[in-house]
Amino acid sequence: MTARACLDEMEMASYLDGAADRDASTAVEAHLACCDRCRRRVEIVRRAMNAGIGAVGSAYEEVVTLTGRLLAEPVYRWTMLAKNAEYHHPGVVRRLLTLAVEERELQIVHAAEMAHAAAVIAAAIIGEAGAVCELRFDAWKLHSALLREAGRYDDCRAALDRAERAAVGVKDVELARGAILLSRALICAEPDIWLPEEAVALLAVAEEIYTRRDLDWLRRVLTVRGMVLLRNGKADEARERFERVLAQTDPANERAYAKAQTNLGWSLLAVGDLESARIQLDRAIEADMRHGVAVDVGRDLCLRSRIFQETGEHEAAIQSAEESMRTFQKCGRPDEAVRAGLVAVQSYTALSDGEAARHLAIMLAERSIELDRLEPSRRRSLTAEAVSYARELAERRSLTEDVAAAVRVYVEELAIKPAVAFNPPLPLAIM
Ligand SMILES: [Zn+2]
Repeated sequence: MTARACLDEMEMASYLDGAADRDASTAVEAHLACCDRCRRRVEIVRRAMNAGIGAVGSAYEEVVTLTGRLLAEPVYRWTMLAKNAEYHHPGVVRRLLTLAVEERELQIVHAAEMAHAAAVIAAAIIGEAGAVCELRFDAWKLHSALLREAGRYDDCRAALDRAERAAVGVKDVELARGAILLSRALICAEPDIWLPEEAVALLAVAEEIYTRRDLDWLRRVLTVRGMVLLRNGKADEARERFERVLAQTDPANERAYAKAQTNLGWSLLAVGDLESARIQLDRAIEADMRHGVAVDVGRDLCLRSRIFQETGEHEAAIQSAEESMRTFQKCGRPDEAVRAGLVAVQSYTALSDGEAARHLAIMLAERSIELDRLEPSRRRSLTAEAVSYARELAERRSLTEDVAAAVRVYVEELAIKPAVAFNPPLPLAIM
């Protein structure tokens, strides 16, 4: 069991300032031992404090008021407002970053915008002192990670370049370098970028650093390594990595443990060991349901649907896939929703339910094309996949004219491009 609910801002502040009594501190530490998210939030604030930002509690009220005022504005105004000097306070940056970590699981694009506002403020705070570099590094790095998760690669790389520039002035240059290497590897592992050799080379250096310095981060490196192997069709090697990650994860850290189990489950599915995959998944899903974090449950349900599919239980596969799709949609992860939806399309087809397959495939294709319109630098391979299903299943006349035109463009693109050379991207958890 997780010892208690996640820390609120005030508890975190008094703990970090050393103002909490012994019982409160013990409770906070017990929670941190089993909650990656709160550990990450505390990490951000602690790094800023160590670099000389000062106590958290003293300016707390002011910071909360300022941040609240900014976030009360419409999202599209945040970046512009962040340039306003009244917000140029290190505490506001820190608070925006911890809020973005929380928001990440709820609304990824929202979270990315929060981190961007933080980065804009950090860039505007005058001075090259370590503390400011530390803030800038954290802000641009988190912003970059969130953009990658949202599939916005150009902006993601630009943000990472900013983080790398700030990394020169941070206290622990080696750990900052490790984080940058891991981020670059993650970009290389994205299906639309897909540079597996480069990813592997970056991960090797990161692995060397973290083996000496930080075992928590080492697990992340191994997870990404497993993901690259899995997408590259090397399921056996991927399974080895995911087994190592699971062995190195403390079962008391329930959410991290469940993620490790789900990832191992994907590789077990890929090597054809369905029974073991199901065992890992059942344990993970039980823990994730209890913690109630939608995005984790969505990933589990997607794996469940694939396992059902392999055993020929297509009704059950459809049920899980559609539930997964709705879950991802609700937490603002339209890409993963489309991906889960495609599993349902396959199972409808296997059941010879052409009408349902067609209906869903067209909806997914329309959704993907709409997303591409909104965000030109976003993932394309997924749209191509959704559209090719729609193309196969739909008669041209059942598409709206708009979509039919877009489908034609994609069909042409697909005809020139070779088929996607790696396994379909799975909704793995990277931690
Ligand atoms: Zn927590």
